[in-house]
Amino acid sequence: MRMNAEQYEESLRKLNLNVYMFGKKVENVVDDPIIRPSMNAVAATYEFSLKPEYEDLLTARSHLTGKTINRFCHIHQNTDDLIKKTKMGRLMGSLTGCCFQRCVGMDALNALSMTTFDIDAKHGTRYYERFKDYLCHVQEKDLTCDGAMTDPKGDRSLPPHKQPDPDMFLHVVEERPDGILVQGAKAHQTGAVNSHEIIVMPTIAMREEDADYAVSFALPSDADGITYIMGRQSCDTRKLEKGQLDRGNRIYGGHEALVVFDRVFVPWERVFMFKEYEFAGQLVEQFASYHRQSYACKAGVGDVLIGATQIAAEYNGAQKASHIKDKIIEMNHLNETLFCGSIACAAQGHREPSGTYLVNTLLANVCKQNVTRFPYEIARLAQDIAGGLMVTLPSEEDLRSEEVGPLMKKYFKGNSEVSTEDRMKILRLIENLTLGTAAVGYLTESMHGAGSPQAQRIMIARQTNMEAKKEVAKKLCGITPG
Ligand code: SF4
Ligand code: FE
Repeated sequence: MRMNAEQYEESLRKLNLNVYMFGKKVENVVDDPIIRPSMNAVAATYEFSLKPEYEDLLTARSHLTGKTINRFCHIHQNTDDLIKKTKMGRLMGSLTGCCFQRCVGMDALNALSMTTFDIDAKHGTRYYERFKDYLCHVQEKDLTCDGAMTDPKGDRSLPPHKQPDPDMFLHVVEERPDGILVQGAKAHQTGAVNSHEIIVMPTIAMREEDADYAVSFALPSDADGITYIMGRQSCDTRKLEKGQLDRGNRIYGGHEALVVFDRVFVPWERVFMFKEYEFAGQLVEQFASYHRQSYACKAGVGDVLIGATQIAAEYNGAQKASHIKDKIIEMNHLNETLFCGSIACAAQGHREPSGTYLVNTLLANVCKQNVTRFPYEIARLAQDIAGGLMVTLPSEEDLRSEEVGPLMKKYFKGNSEVSTEDRMKILRLIENLTLGTAAVGYLTESMHGAGSPQAQRIMIARQTNMEAKKEVAKKLCGITPG
């Protein structure tokens, strides 16, 4: 059954999550004004999937049941699926102007569909069947899953088993006839408290000594022993204010949380990797490659920022200046280059033994490397064009004040056809995207989400066929093998 936005919201209300923010337990997560916009963004993945104009991108046919499902629950069956995934990310980014969070679960499901199959082929285990049962459950109920990979990692120079505190990497602490107990944490978890399920994966390649840390499983997000501590975002308390103007984006937002597992029980039927340490690296690489492709979302958010910047230029009366036009062209060039990388790694995808299609991992890493840079340049140009008023603007309450409101209306007027209030709105949106709550998703998440820049450079070095390049160079200039 596919859910609509209201049904999704109601399904979240039934969860009994243990969430903390500002040192207090959040009793009503769904209606909390700081969390709510992030819930709205995930709800949009449900809402828009039911609109005929978006159906082709936002839904797919399940390869397990033949039913129409939300594409965020789908396992990619061909390169067309991968291309549609890229387009879906851009579309959702452009409709919400923020991180809509649901991609991490989709990427985790797809990575597990390959790794569980490959573990079984080597070890004669039954993970793939288990995984398919779980996938049916996710598809049937139209669930949002948090794909949880990043451990706190403690001292980066030490492997998991040598950490002074063993919980710096999530690990198995007890094995029982009916399941396992796990302990540790996952950091920076996008959309965690808006998810029905949490899918845990290891964060790095493991050796035999780290076998207890080579574990992957899924649990309901409100399982006993899981605690969420919400991350802060710049300007987050503006969402507590009466007026809406200073928020920039009035409807949508993203969020991250630290997720702590305190001796949490996982039944065997939800365990997808148990000490097969030699597959930890594969699962990490496959998930990371998919998620690096997913960053087409940033091209969608870039669409919003470019549109807002063009409007700001028009409201300032500066849109005809040649350097403004050129800067907007540059923003578009950078934004489309981001999109190119994601489309390219999808188009060059291939079939893995399980039948799942995986993106071209070299191109996915190139895509994400661009994402660590270009949004910063696009944001710089947006701020250049918007002007300093974006950060010196008084509050909405001042605009509404009888004493100083008229002064603001007079002195912050740009183009005489446009109200000062509208000019403030667009500047606040640019502020939101480049400095405020949405900048978490558009900038720093672009840097570190799906792996920090160096992680992609390592993969680019590893995936590049240097010998082939050397060989052709030698051939062309006449260096003979000697
Ligand atoms: Fe999806 Fe982008 Fe958010 Fe990652 S950053 S969860 S790819 S919207
Ligand atoms: Fe992310």
